[in-house]
Amino acid sequence: MRSAGGDGRPGRLARVRARMAALGIDALLVTHLPNVRYLTGMRASAAAALIDGAGILLITDARYITAARTLAEEAGAGLGLAVIEIQKSYDQSICDVVRRRGLAHVGVEAEHVSLARWQWLRDSLRDEVTLVSTAGLVETERMVKDAAECERLRRAGRLLAGVVPVALQLTGAGRTEREVAADIERALATAGFEDRAFETIVASGPRSALPHARPGSRRLTAGDLVVLDFGGVYGGYCVDLTRTASVGEPGEMSLRMHAAVLASQTAAIAAVRPGVQASAVDAAARGVLREHGLAEAFQHGTGHGLGLEVHEAPRIAQAARLQRPGADVVLEAGMVITVEPGVYVPNAGGVRIEDDVLVTAGGCEMLTEAPRALAVC
Ligand code: ZN
Ligand code: ZN
Repeated sequence: MRSAGGDGRPGRLARVRARMAALGIDALLVTHLPNVRYLTGMRASAAAALIDGAGILLITDARYITAARTLAEEAGAGLGLAVIEIQKSYDQSICDVVRRRGLAHVGVEAEHVSLARWQWLRDSLRDEVTLVSTAGLVETERMVKDAAECERLRRAGRLLAGVVPVALQLTGAGRTEREVAADIERALATAGFEDRAFETIVASGPRSALPHARPGSRRLTAGDLVVLDFGGVYGGYCVDLTRTASVGEPGEMSLRMHAAVLASQTAAIAAVRPGVQASAVDAAARGVLREHGLAEAFQHGTGHGLGLEVHEAPRIAQAARLQRPGADVVLEAGMVITVEPGVYVPNAGGVRIEDDVLVTAGGCEMLTEAPRALAVC
């Protein structure tokens, strides 16, 4: 999947450095923790990394310093990973090291730095260093997964698909949304996930018409549609899946909505291949729903990237909603995305079907192979 610069962290670092060179910056301050993890392997609730021409510096505090030093030893000389333990504060240590290294143009991840932090860094480094606002330098690299990441996501997808029949079995008349959600999360742990990827959604009856409803105390009732949206983290990587079930025999409206969403998802998955713009996949999903007279009932994007974060680039949405430069990404082999069209009819109910696919040279590979027909619970 990856060639230029090779697989693994040294390759990632080399490609980020090439992007830095194109921007004319001699260092990049990485403060978004998933980006720090991607580049260094460090999983911590607080850390930063500074990339310059000489190497990559992992900056962390006493809680994580042993883990950081172990990582640096394991990484060996190839990555050039060194560790700094902060003294007074993260930002003070960052300023010290930027000065010590004589850096002149330091990129900052604008999407992940508060205005207050930016101002403090700028004021502290005044006259010596120019801070340069950057966006998506590491995130762009993260979109295309290397072989090891693909393997992890394949395994995670298989595990998640295995939870589908369990989740459907847990769904039944008389149970509350919260009970079902808690049981699904236990099933995720039993399946081998280290964590849930997000708060599980169980939305029943009229609440299924709310795309991001939080599970509540409502009891599932015959005739309900129930949207079950859950995901897990495996080896640091997130997978995400939705199925919609009917409590008891589905009515005609439920069947119609489900058939339309299934056809929409099938068309969108068929559109996924290298060279296609993200918005074209969205258009494939939306076109089918329009044919079914349900275009207005589909109000969100068709999907999102998956990886160290459950929502990451690329976004699969309408071209009109991907206005920022580069946001309408051209798909490449190695990208992993969700395909999740849905329809939501206020006061009636909703249907969403979501699967995860890996873009391959010839199209895409389904990572979450599980029955998609409307389940009757
Ligand atoms: Zn989901
Ligand atoms: Zn999703």
